[in-house]
Amino acid sequence: MAAKEAEAAAEWRTVRLKLHILIRCGLCYGRLTPPVYQFENGFVTCRKCQKILEPSSSSTPGYIRNHGLEKVIEFLSIPCSHSTHGCNEYLPYLGSSIANHEKDCSYVPRRCFVKKCAFEAPNGALVQHLTAEHRSTIHNFSYEVPLRVSIDPYEPLLVLRESDDGVDFVLFEPFDNCSEHYNFSVVCCSQSRPSNKIFSKLAATSDEGMEISLKAPVEQWKGLFGVSLVVPGCFYNRDGKIDLDVYMYVED
Ligand SMILES: [Zn+2]
Ligand SMILES: [Zn+2]
Ligand SMILES: [Zn+2]
Repeated sequence: MAAKEAEAAAEWRTVRLKLHILIRCGLCYGRLTPPVYQFENGFVTCRKCQKILEPSSSSTPGYIRNHGLEKVIEFLSIPCSHSTHGCNEYLPYLGSSIANHEKDCSYVPRRCFVKKCAFEAPNGALVQHLTAEHRSTIHNFSYEVPLRVSIDPYEPLLVLRESDDGVDFVLFEPFDNCSEHYNFSVVCCSQSRPSNKIFSKLAATSDEGMEISLKAPVEQWKGLFGVSLVVPGCFYNRDGKIDLDVYMYVED
C-alpha cells in the first residue's frame, strides 16, 4: 500500500504555466470547465460560447471536444490564493475544495485587534505585529493552571502564550471602550489551530468580593469574536486596572 501511495505521489510534478491562457475561454474569457470545445480556427471555448460560434447552416459542426485539455483541467491542482502569505496548499481546480479551503485557510489575513490600526496579516504574523508595533505584553501560561493578569483599560489587550505548545491566544476588548463596563474575549491567534478543543474561564473579582466569570470555547481568530465577559466599571482595582483570573483548559 505504501509503495502504491509513493508511486501515485511520484506522478505529481510542479510546473509553471500561465493559467489564464490555458484555462480561460477564448471568447468570453471565463473559467473553462469541461466540456471544452475547439473550433477549426483554433478557438478554445466554453459550452456557452460554443453555442454562439456554432455555424447554423453547415453540414460539419466546425468544432470538436478538446478532451486533452479537459483531462488537464480535471487533474489540475492550483495553489491557495493565500500562498503569498505562506499557505502551501494545492487543491483541485474543479469542484468546491479550493473555495472551502480558502474560506477556512489559516493564512487568511486578519485585521489587527487594535481598533485604529488598519494592519492586516495571517494569525501568526498578527501576534508578531502586536508585540513589535503595539508592544503588547506576552504572558506565558500552562493549560489547567490559573493565571492572574492585570489589564490597563486604556490598552486592553495582551498575548497569552502556552508554555509547552507555544500556541498564542489574545485576550482583548472587542468593543469600543466605555468607562461603564469592559468586555473581554479570548481567541486563538496561532497559525495552526490546536488539535484539541480549548476553553477559557475568565473571572473578575471586585474589591468588595463580588465575582463574575465566564466559560467559553476558544475559537481561531477570524475577525469575529465569540462571547465575552462583561466587567462593570466598579471592578477596577485601586490602580485603575482590572484584575482577571484566566484559566485555560483542554477538553479531552
Ligand atoms: Zn466562453
Ligand atoms: Zn490556504
Ligand atoms: Zn496593529
